[in-house]
Amino acid sequence: MRVAGRPVPAKRPSRLSAKTLIISAISTVIGFSAICASVMLDLRRGEEVVAHQSLENLATSIDADISRNIELYDLSLRNVASNMLLPEIDEVSKPIRQLILFDHAATAKHFGAIQVYDATGHLKVDSASLDPQPEDRSGEGYFQVHRDNPDVGLYISRPTLYRSTYAIVLSRRIQAADGRFLGVVVGSIRFSYFHELFGRLTLGPGDSITVLRHDGTVIMRTPFDLDDIGKNLARVPGVARALTEPSGWYASAGTLDNVPRLMVWRDGTKPLVVLAGKPWREIYRLWRTEAIRIGATMLALIVFVVAATMIAAREMMRRTEAEARLEELAATDALTGLKNRRKFDTTIESEWSRAMRHHTPLALLMIDADHFKSYNDNHGHQAGDQMLVGIAICITDSVRRAGDCAVRYGGEEFAVLLPGLSETYALRVAETIRLKVQSWSDEAAPATVSVGVAGVTPARDSDWADLLQAADKALYAAKAAGRNRCIVTAVPAQPVAA
Ligand code: GH3
Ligand code: MG
Ligand code: MG
Repeated sequence: MRVAGRPVPAKRPSRLSAKTLIISAISTVIGFSAICASVMLDLRRGEEVVAHQSLENLATSIDADISRNIELYDLSLRNVASNMLLPEIDEVSKPIRQLILFDHAATAKHFGAIQVYDATGHLKVDSASLDPQPEDRSGEGYFQVHRDNPDVGLYISRPTLYRSTYAIVLSRRIQAADGRFLGVVVGSIRFSYFHELFGRLTLGPGDSITVLRHDGTVIMRTPFDLDDIGKNLARVPGVARALTEPSGWYASAGTLDNVPRLMVWRDGTKPLVVLAGKPWREIYRLWRTEAIRIGATMLALIVFVVAATMIAAREMMRRTEAEARLEELAATDALTGLKNRRKFDTTIESEWSRAMRHHTPLALLMIDADHFKSYNDNHGHQAGDQMLVGIAICITDSVRRAGDCAVRYGGEEFAVLLPGLSETYALRVAETIRLKVQSWSDEAAPATVSVGVAGVTPARDSDWADLLQAADKALYAAKAAGRNRCIVTAVPAQPVAA
């Protein structure tokens, strides 16, 4: 059986719906995750800043030590270069000459002896010996550089084996007042200096310190590997910046030992540039542990919140469904399956208001079984019930538009609300119902209905009771006129729709 009827929004106390609950839970989870992620990213940035600062301090202190020593040693070289120009220098005795030329800097622990080579590259004076063995250094880079370029100043060589020790050679040009090349003064700083310098520092696991010559050549590095010494890193993008910019950092991919590091330098304009590096994995080690701990806790919380929300939402949906079923039951007539009087009252109320708002007609049929008392008496109460069910089927078969509402009004009386229909069209529906009941009922136990029809386009502030009264009146008229018929009555003081 098809039961016509337009769903009417029931007035329920506003309550948290499952959808709202799920949306709130998802928003909360996303919100907390975002806050958590932002805090973790801040912590991560904090670790980077701390690492950056400590590397900067490291680079600065190493740089200061190296610069101070090179400066000191360079002073000695300058002293020798200028004193070599004294006219008397070749005339004084060798011990006096040694005293004039060499100060105590040249005797410091990691500094090599200072030599003076003449314009042809032959050893002329040696701070370590009054009578040095003859040596020819004319083929050496540091000699040729000064010979060919008057403006080199202090020249620092590539790491080299100088006088049987790994060292860097520092040299300066000796030139006459007229610019003539007179030779070079040469000294060396042994690798032991760097080893000792780096040894004094407390470095973290994987930390690296690289000292570069200004052309990108590796002078010294810790962790030490002889193979790395002398390599040119000028083409490495970060290193290229370190050799030109005063200070900065870059993310190294691990050019020398495949360990990605944060590399920081200070004062890349000096003759030797110090790069301090820390592996990213060490920078983030503590942070990673913390991130895993907080991440796992968050994940557990999210799982818990999601699971609790799903359970609560399912429970809510079940309850909503049960309530809807109950509501449906409360609005349904148990015998015929039509809507009941209670439902009719709320429907006519809302349809009346709607028709009033939209100025559309609303029609009502009141249907009553004829001589039903005697039908019951003649055929029994159960047959009477069957007849009522049959009438209900005839009504629902005739009322097929969505929005039409057929109800069992009470006893053997039915009502049909037809929104949008004038009483003329409503009369046709009424006639259909009447004929259907008539043709459907058993010839042995014939049953008929009388129908009262009323329709109106509700005026402002009018009452639907007028419509009900008019339909009732029409029904009485139909009864009075002999039953098994449909009669239309006008609604008093209401404009009747055509
Ligand atoms: P009229 O043509 O004037 O309407 O006569 P009527 O006998 O139908 O009217 P009346 O109001 O005198 O009687 C209505 C009867 O309907 C009385 C009651 O026994 C019967 N009735 C009401 N509800 C039910 C029901 O649920 N089942 C059955 N079997 N009979 C019902
Ligand atoms: Mg009756
Ligand atoms: Mg009756």
